[in-house]
Amino acid sequence: MTALKDSSNIAVGDGIVTVNGWVQDIRNMGGIAFLQLRDRFGIIQVTMPKKKIGQELFDELTSLSRESVISVTGEVKESNQTALGLELIPSEYQLHSAAGVPLPMGVIDKVNVEMDTRLNNRFMDLRKPEVKAIFELKSMMVALIEEAVRENGFTQVFTPKISAAGAEGGAELFKIKYFDKDAFLSQSPQLYKQVLMSTGLDRVFEIAPAFRAEQSNTNRHVTEFISFDGEMSWIQSMDDVLAMIEVIIDHVITGLKEKGQKQLEIIGKEIVVPSRPYPKLTYSECLKIVNDGGLPLKNGDDLGTEGEKIVGDYMAKQGKDLYFIVEYPEEAKPFYIMEKDGTEFSYAFDLDYKGQEISSGGQREHRYDRLVARMEKKGLDPEDFGFYLDAFRYGMPPHGGWGIGIERLLVKMLDLPNIREAILFPRDPSRLSP
Ligand code: ATP
Ligand code: MG
Repeated sequence: MTALKDSSNIAVGDGIVTVNGWVQDIRNMGGIAFLQLRDRFGIIQVTMPKKKIGQELFDELTSLSRESVISVTGEVKESNQTALGLELIPSEYQLHSAAGVPLPMGVIDKVNVEMDTRLNNRFMDLRKPEVKAIFELKSMMVALIEEAVRENGFTQVFTPKISAAGAEGGAELFKIKYFDKDAFLSQSPQLYKQVLMSTGLDRVFEIAPAFRAEQSNTNRHVTEFISFDGEMSWIQSMDDVLAMIEVIIDHVITGLKEKGQKQLEIIGKEIVVPSRPYPKLTYSECLKIVNDGGLPLKNGDDLGTEGEKIVGDYMAKQGKDLYFIVEYPEEAKPFYIMEKDGTEFSYAFDLDYKGQEISSGGQREHRYDRLVARMEKKGLDPEDFGFYLDAFRYGMPPHGGWGIGIERLLVKMLDLPNIREAILFPRDPSRLSP
């Protein structure tokens, strides 16, 4: 057995080693040939002087199809022609899996491939280092989120993704057959994480899929995304929730900039850490900015894609990428949000990043009577929320929380053009496979 090496730990002086990977490219110059072997970390050049390695090995290696999977054993030699500063002179190889010809799409060809083609052949698309790097960064991002919440005393929970009713009503729910009953895919863990506030767990978080039956073909909506939800008890005001989010998001962005250096270099992006504190704009201020920007929205209207963008451009001019939007009219926000007494406002907020909503949250109504009153005001039947309301009837602390779409956060951090870039196998109204 020779030492097993890869492009991240191979060095001149290693002697005879074996490396595994995909045949990215072969250049045959007659007397010498070059094979670029790609592994998880990079590329190793296999250099084949015909005279030295023999006609047979030369012919076999140079006739491999691109993207075939092989192991190559050979001697590591210094080279000033390659990025690693070394090359491998092969003495033997093993073909594990020959790739079919032609490939469904190129891995190194610089032609612009349509997103649909890429997604249809995602396994191949992901062989591109700049595509794979996004998912390595996503994995690091989730680890950083978990690190931050655990440090702050949050317990990880898992709530059901099959449920009898939705958190916010029917329109965005996927109906499924559940034996002889109808059920729905969960659009949010909202009701469950609030119920958990009555248990003494005090601080919970969940990172899990959320499903939305939205017929929106945009670059920021999918029908299945990963939601990072948090809920915390004993808050004195909504500001406690905003402060917690700020700590978490800052940990994530700062951490990714540091830990993801290699991947960020591969995709050619630099993360700019937003300055703290994250400013708070009121909804009315946003309306004014939007109106001044030429979009005639009225009080109570959703800012929408265009409105969010106008506010984002306005904030960018002041060097602010991340900002909260607070003081939403209660009318525009769900029943579980607390009203600001004596006003038309609520304790709901959004967090926007570079002109796009990445999170919604707020202080919740924890008082049973007020909660029921709010349901009725919204035309909901409290009878439909039995298990939820029970938790409020027998002792519920003041609490608040958030839901953050992790793909939206990643997209904005990395300035990706489409949320589908941040999902391995995205689901949207026209895509159910692969
Ligand atoms: P939007 O108005 O942008 O459609 P929303 O207000 O409907 O979002 P919420 O119900 O507030 O979304 O969900 C909380 C967070 O979950 C959002 O801020 C966003 O980050 C994420 N999210 C919601 N819907 C989607 C979706 N269809 N695709 C991807 N992420 C989503
Ligand atoms: Mg929202």
